[in-house]
Amino acid sequence: MKLTLNNLHLSPHEREGKLLKICEQKLHAPVKYFKILKKSLDARDKADIRWVYTVECSDRAEEAPPRVFARVKASPRVYIAGTGPAGLFCALRLIDHGIRPILLERGKPVEERVKDVEIFHKCGILSPDSNVQFGEGGAGTFSDGKLNTQTNTPLNREVLDLFVKFGAPEEIAFLNKPHIGSDNLRRVIAKMRTYVLENGGEVRFLSRLTDVETRDGVLSAVSVNGQKEDADALVLAVGHSARDTFEMLLSRGFSITQKPFAVGVRVEHLQSEIGKAQYGGGYLGLPPADYKLVSHAGERAAFTFCMCPGGVVIPAASEEGGVVTNGMSNFARDECNANSALIAQITPEDFGSAHPLAGVEFQRKLERAAFLAGGGKYLAPVQLMGDFLAGKESYYFGEVKPSYARGAAFAPLESYLPPAVVSSLRAAVPDMDRRLKGFAAFDAVLTGVESRTSSPVRIVRDESLQAVGKENIYPCGEGCGYAGGIMSAAADGLRVAERIAAKYF
Ligand SMILES: Cc1cc2nc3c(=O)[nH]c(=O)nc-3n(C[C@H](O)[C@H](O)[C@H](O)COP(=O)(O)OP(=O)(O)OC[C@H]3O[C@@H](n4cnc5c(N)ncnc54)[C@H](O)[C@@H]3O)c2cc1C
Repeated sequence: MKLTLNNLHLSPHEREGKLLKICEQKLHAPVKYFKILKKSLDARDKADIRWVYTVECSDRAEEAPPRVFARVKASPRVYIAGTGPAGLFCALRLIDHGIRPILLERGKPVEERVKDVEIFHKCGILSPDSNVQFGEGGAGTFSDGKLNTQTNTPLNREVLDLFVKFGAPEEIAFLNKPHIGSDNLRRVIAKMRTYVLENGGEVRFLSRLTDVETRDGVLSAVSVNGQKEDADALVLAVGHSARDTFEMLLSRGFSITQKPFAVGVRVEHLQSEIGKAQYGGGYLGLPPADYKLVSHAGERAAFTFCMCPGGVVIPAASEEGGVVTNGMSNFARDECNANSALIAQITPEDFGSAHPLAGVEFQRKLERAAFLAGGGKYLAPVQLMGDFLAGKESYYFGEVKPSYARGAAFAPLESYLPPAVVSSLRAAVPDMDRRLKGFAAFDAVLTGVESRTSSPVRIVRDESLQAVGKENIYPCGEGCGYAGGIMSAAADGLRVAERIAAKYF
């Protein structure tokens, strides 16, 4: 007999083994199969914080049906530009269908990329093709690896299962707020690459898609580092920072539209203070606390985004002369600060131009202003929360020290952010503090500029997922405007692979 049991509660101090005993009582037999389907934390009542489970159990052992893979064929020649989640998951699914992916990646393998990022952090020497945005694994490699998504599709389950298959912690399959951590992500990505290679696929590093040719509206060739190669299909999984690639695609007649996004700063608090606010007194045995806040107190909606408990603020520039921030944490989430993006909405009306790439120029302007505000050398401009709210300059840090590895210099948000964003954030913070006590703490640190929250463009595709008027070219993932995080980008990669496979078989 197989049973699904909902709403099982454990206190943070109880062992999960207790769940097996509950299952045995319900089955009236020893448990031969047991699986946690969902696990979430209920911290609404601070005096009675509990884990809540849904489990599946049976008195018979489960046998998974073996999955049959097709043998990969040399033709058609399917190119995938980008090895972020969209490109990698697309490649994995093409292999399932017997199609050999040719992955092009402008950056380096993840092991070498990690070294380039370290050099940038220590010495301020930016490698334009190997950084936090570019290189194997894409933008999320140096991330918190949060795997929550607002999109509801059966593909989400497949994405999580694939992550586990390639070595991610098994708990991501059932936690309601799954997270891999940057340390695990790097290992998972390297294993995915090995799998692609072992199954006949090709992975080329330092290989940039530089041109696309069509004949009568049908893809005929791609150029890689300027060298032309025949191609049958192309997946554009280039991410939101591939500004030169967007320019190339625009010059080749692709339909590109402007897209809203959000900008602001990273805010850092002590993780222990966030724990106190969310859990009350003792929080031993509980995961590092997180939060998600929205406020409509100002002229524009402001919200927190990409919260990294126990993480660091990371220098995330990919262009020389620009400062960009983002957040990262390892699986343990054991750094002393918590950070999140504190951002306000930007719409195409703010761009000041109808040009399809005006949003890119808008981001670039803010990043250059932040670079100058930080005094050059990629130091980030920082201001204390209390001084920001009072409209004063900052001179000393309090208990919260900025974690931004390149170093920080005091400068007010006004020196690099648009006035409407500054005023909206100023109005939002006291409002947010009402819901998360201590959010407006005087010594919380605001580090700028958070400008790459999502793609400033959309490369328009039709119902068949092909670029409008460009047969066999598939815009995919976040950069092309079809995803907003690791999960949705990976799911879009699977979706596009299915469309390509359906065309050939
Ligand atoms: C520091 C950081 C932290 C983040 N944290 C999270 C998080 O915790 N959870 C979450 O869901 N999301 C997070 N994100 C966002 C997430 O990383 C992206 O949504 C996701 O990676 C998008 O996937 P993608 O495959 O569409 O594009 P990307 O991951 O950006 O991958 C694009 C790839 O294309 C390559 N490329 C670009 N141009 C070319 C070209 N012309 N030729 C060949 N290759 C090219 C790039 O080098 C890159 O590897 C974070 C992002 C950053 C930067």
